Amino acid sequence: MHQTKLETVRTRFAPSPTGFLHVGGLRTALYSFLFAKKNHGQFVLRIEDTDQSRQVAHATENLINTLKWAGISCDEGPEHGGKYGPYVQSERLDLYHKYAKQLIEQQHAYYCFCSPERLEQVRERKIAAKLPPAYDRQCRNLSNQEIQTKLARGEQSVIRMKVPLNGELTFADLIRGNVTINYKNIDDQVLLKSDGFPTYHLAVVVDDHDMQISHVIRGEEWLSSTPKHLLLYTYLGWQAPQFAHLPLLLNPDKSKLSKRQGDVAVEDYIKKGYIKEALVNFIALLGWNPGTTREIFSLEDLISEFSLERVGKSGAIFNIEKLNWINHKWLTSYDPEKLRELVLPFIVQKYPQAAHLDLTTLNNLIKLMQKDLVTLAMSANLLEFYFEKPANLNLSDLGNFTHVKEISDIIQQNLPINDQHTFLPNVKNSAKSAQIPLNMLFPVMRYALTGKAEGFGIQDIINVLGTTESSSRLQNFVNWYISR
Ligand code: GLU
Repeated sequence: MHQTKLETVRTRFAPSPTGFLHVGGLRTALYSFLFAKKNHGQFVLRIEDTDQSRQVAHATENLINTLKWAGISCDEGPEHGGKYGPYVQSERLDLYHKYAKQLIEQQHAYYCFCSPERLEQVRERKIAAKLPPAYDRQCRNLSNQEIQTKLARGEQSVIRMKVPLNGELTFADLIRGNVTINYKNIDDQVLLKSDGFPTYHLAVVVDDHDMQISHVIRGEEWLSSTPKHLLLYTYLGWQAPQFAHLPLLLNPDKSKLSKRQGDVAVEDYIKKGYIKEALVNFIALLGWNPGTTREIFSLEDLISEFSLERVGKSGAIFNIEKLNWINHKWLTSYDPEKLRELVLPFIVQKYPQAAHLDLTTLNNLIKLMQKDLVTLAMSANLLEFYFEKPANLNLSDLGNFTHVKEISDIIQQNLPINDQHTFLPNVKNSAKSAQIPLNMLFPVMRYALTGKAEGFGIQDIINVLGTTESSSRLQNFVNWYISR
């Protein structure tokens, strides 16, 4: 198959608006975007909505918003148009009809009048005979006369492409090298359906050609469709783009990434507080390797580093631990101002009063938890101690700790806190004199202050709570301990 290069690099992301953006879709969009930008080309968004039965309201809007969130900007697309528009397939039906007609005239395609019932029978027969359930090509042999009569009678029809009956086709995939497929494994694919809509196969070829796409970057699941597309390019006398089929995304158990084992919609990750820099960074590494041990990349870094040569063939494992690690890395790299902007909505979701905190307090809270933050959503839990006073104190929570009585006494002797800087050193000194180890003192004090034996450092907790609130919580603990 003849594949020469188009001069300008133009790539596209061509999702069907059937729901939310899948993480696999985000990767396809990202790689297409990176490749275009790296090569000073253009990235196009095209909505493939030819399957009218699978439309979902707001799906296109969601897709566009999610791509924007990730920082993947389109040079052309449904939102801002462009010189090859419209960018929504249902608005391009005339074009598909024109080429379907041309294919019929040039005898590369034919009308098929078979009823759904007959097609089902053919399918069942083939399956019973352990053959691929392809169409038996009955209508390929109709005479011109028969066809005209049926059309004149208004019989329902589809248009199918004529696939050569034997021989094979080889094409060069930029990731997988030469791929050869035998024609006998290819069905006479329907190109135009009886509802007047094209199938994906006709529409994708017409549009990729019409929009001057130079490189088609898409998931491996489309590899077996590529020969059909290449045949159509030949039939229509067009130069085909280059193809790059990305490896599958896998669950840790190597099965195909599925909802059953975790979230697959980008939106779910956004809701959980993964930030765009981290998700993009993580997704970029699912199939592409930079050739070094470096793991943290910004979108700009990716644009300059990305190449299709470094995309592997074998499935890429979606490892949530790694995503967590990358998210943590990005979150800890931010200055408190930036982190505050990102994290505040998550805190406010659980604690609306956080919206009214003064900046100093907020910044202190953020500084306190930053090093422990894995996702933005975690912030509300980490800061629970600040917004909720310890409640339901229970001795069994301190089961492993000894000297509780002595510690309670020492706390009492030092209350109320007059100076937030000398209080803890004083308590520590008293504990030392009484031979109470610090690994007993701290958990008990933390429990008194926050209701949990584990968590942030005592001085940090006192600093953010302030002397009044800290004194009151400690006093409550002492009172509770005595009166138990
Ligand atoms: N509409 C197809 C999809 O939903 C596009 C496949 C392609 O990129 O050719 O994935």
